[in-house]
Amino acid sequence: MTETEIIDGKAFAETLLAQVAKDVANLKASSGKTPGLAVVIVGEDPASQVYVRNKVEKTKAVGMVSVHHILPADTSQADLLALVEQLNQDEAVNGILVQLPLPKQIDESAVINAISPDKDVDGFHVVNAGRLATGQDALVPCTPTGCLMLLKDRLGSLSGLNAVVIGRSNIVGKPMAALLLAESCTVTIAHSKTRDLPALCRQADILVAAVGRPEMVKGDWIKPGAVVIDVGVNRIPAEGGKTRLVGDVATKEAMGTASAITPVPGGVGPMTIACLLFNTLRASRMQWGK
Ligand code: NDP
Repeated sequence: MTETEIIDGKAFAETLLAQVAKDVANLKASSGKTPGLAVVIVGEDPASQVYVRNKVEKTKAVGMVSVHHILPADTSQADLLALVEQLNQDEAVNGILVQLPLPKQIDESAVINAISPDKDVDGFHVVNAGRLATGQDALVPCTPTGCLMLLKDRLGSLSGLNAVVIGRSNIVGKPMAALLLAESCTVTIAHSKTRDLPALCRQADILVAAVGRPEMVKGDWIKPGAVVIDVGVNRIPAEGGKTRLVGDVATKEAMGTASAITPVPGGVGPMTIACLLFNTLRASRMQWGK
């Protein structure tokens, strides 16, 4: 039996935020300028509102300027694109985040690709995706950036390790795989058409699950000693008519087999927002040549 470490993403994120706050203060002192993050939300989705409120609070806490725009659910694509263009031109704004999903009358790709790549702190713009894929300096999506930080903290060098990433979305799976490849892992991307997923997972020294299916990855899919990163966030019914959050991995079953695993909640989630501010700091430095 291996003793399985529960990776404390919350504590790691707090350390990262403290470092970002320190760097923001130094940058302000040397340049006289304050990094600014603009968050745009369209519609009244309560979950998105909570995320945005959380982002605004954390942005202010690290000493950055927070600007947020809440637009009605029936906003047209043209109006949203006009706002994005205004933010692209605004020198007080170094990072722009448009909260997804967007209402169906709006083409998400058109909006993402209208954001200046230098201000694209979500790292979703096709230019940043291309830079990441070709090994160039890029703004990288926040969730996989956070996952990589946790992995490197736990493992040091990742070179030569077998990594399996379950999920091929543009926001998690694909950039995660690109980051692991850049660290010289041997990377396999699995998805809904993958054959014999359990056998594939059993070869993984690093297993990243980004699927959105509650506890899909079973304990006996995990290679002894593997480090498991559970990106999934799934709300399931709990006792007393309540609900609770679980990941994509059956965490209890993984205990004793994995060498380390991220919990849900408290693992990858807190890293995502910390990495957003880390990216905003990077974007500011790149824009100011600092
Ligand atoms: P998507 O729905 O965009 O992608 C899910 C991926 O999982 C797809 O590639 C899909 O394959 C694959 N998949 C679905 N079913 C299976 C299956 N049975 N076997 C193997 N692969 C399967 O999700 P996201 O990437 O946006 O998010 C994934 C999860 O991560 C969600 O739970 C989300 O809530 C969470 N998340 C958490 C974040 C955090 O901060 N903690 C941030 C972002 C996401 P295919 O392409 O073939 O359809």
